Amino acid sequence: MIWSKEETLSREEIEKIQLERLQETVNRVYEKVAPYRAKMDAVGVKPEDIKSLKDLAKLPFVTKQDMRDNYPFGLFAVPRSELVRIHASSGTTGKPTVVGYTENDLKTWTECVSRIACMGGASKDDVAQICFGYGMFTGALGLHYGLENIGATIVPSSTGNSEKQIMYMKDFETTLLVATPSYALRLAEVAREMGVDPAKDLKVKIGLVGSELLTDAMREEMYKAWGKDMLVTSNYGMSELMGPGVSGECEYLCGMHINEDYFIPEIINPETGEVLPVGEKGELVITCIKKEGIPLIRYRTKDITRLMYEKCKCGRTFCRMENLSGRSDDMLKIRGVNVFPSQIEEVILGFEELGPHYEIIVTREGYTDKLEIRVELAQSTDSFGELEKLSNGVRNKLKVMLGLDAKVKLESPNTLQRFEGKAKRIKDLRSK
Ligand SMILES: [Zn+2]
Repeated sequence: MIWSKEETLSREEIEKIQLERLQETVNRVYEKVAPYRAKMDAVGVKPEDIKSLKDLAKLPFVTKQDMRDNYPFGLFAVPRSELVRIHASSGTTGKPTVVGYTENDLKTWTECVSRIACMGGASKDDVAQICFGYGMFTGALGLHYGLENIGATIVPSSTGNSEKQIMYMKDFETTLLVATPSYALRLAEVAREMGVDPAKDLKVKIGLVGSELLTDAMREEMYKAWGKDMLVTSNYGMSELMGPGVSGECEYLCGMHINEDYFIPEIINPETGEVLPVGEKGELVITCIKKEGIPLIRYRTKDITRLMYEKCKCGRTFCRMENLSGRSDDMLKIRGVNVFPSQIEEVILGFEELGPHYEIIVTREGYTDKLEIRVELAQSTDSFGELEKLSNGVRNKLKVMLGLDAKVKLESPNTLQRFEGKAKRIKDLRSK
């Protein structure tokens, strides 16, 4: 089901809305947000210079660092009394990034997530169990309001207490699961330990997963764990931009439709900042054109993707962003080679004998980086020959894929750490 008529507007109509809203936003931030005015003055751009969508490229970028430098409210465009909610992203390095919502912002957010939920197959008939951590993190409340708005029955079970989660799923006949892919896999594992077969004994048929990359190989693991007839879609957002609701996959699984009447996407060369031609892969930059609390212009997401404007079979006209192949933040440089953890995951999940739980450990001995992969077997085996063959197989595949030699350590099932939120699979011990 398509939630709102805006999702099927013609390109011309979309661009008309975008330009109007962009001009309005640029005017407003120039007038109300001192750091924006300073940045624009520094490059000599005035709001009246934005005459077409192409002129967006004249505006300076905003980064996470700008948000930290103006912590907590320096980039806000409204007085604090206009805000009805504040969220913040976890500050693993330095200060968290703080975002605030006016009443209208919450309405916009709810609208955007409602659309994404419908793209992923949700409807008012669903019982939606939200297994994202509630709190300052935008994921849980974002999905909560969007799903509630379309009339689904919400079970706000949050994370943790996995056995109770399975009990709710069974007793409330949950049909829709919101979780990170890794926690969704963990829940299926717990169900099996309790003697519950997720595919047969539960009614979960829709998975709205987010906050972690969903690679094709990970989607396959989701089908294996929850049953083949589940529709697993990935959706995208980040608290700086609003939270979840920026884009999401429809049932054709061919990239994530961006809510273009609220967000203008661009793809840039991450090194030079230059805008790349349509279809090329690069860093995603997003301009929020309808936010009141904290409008962001040309926000550098550090996510690597490309944009697709071809018409989608679902009937939506909003452009799609390719599912992420990696965050430039997550990229590891090992012996001078750029390595995305998703590449390693793809190799691991290509082996039937291996489960979806793994750890990537990078160390330095002398001047040489060492890469070690610990991965769990799908089933335990005592055959040394089999183990030897398997670890060599993984090592060779990694060598072909990454051009790097790695040590592969096979672990017994159920020995590596499990995660309830975003999985932390990379241990880069080199700086210590
Ligand atoms: Zn579509």
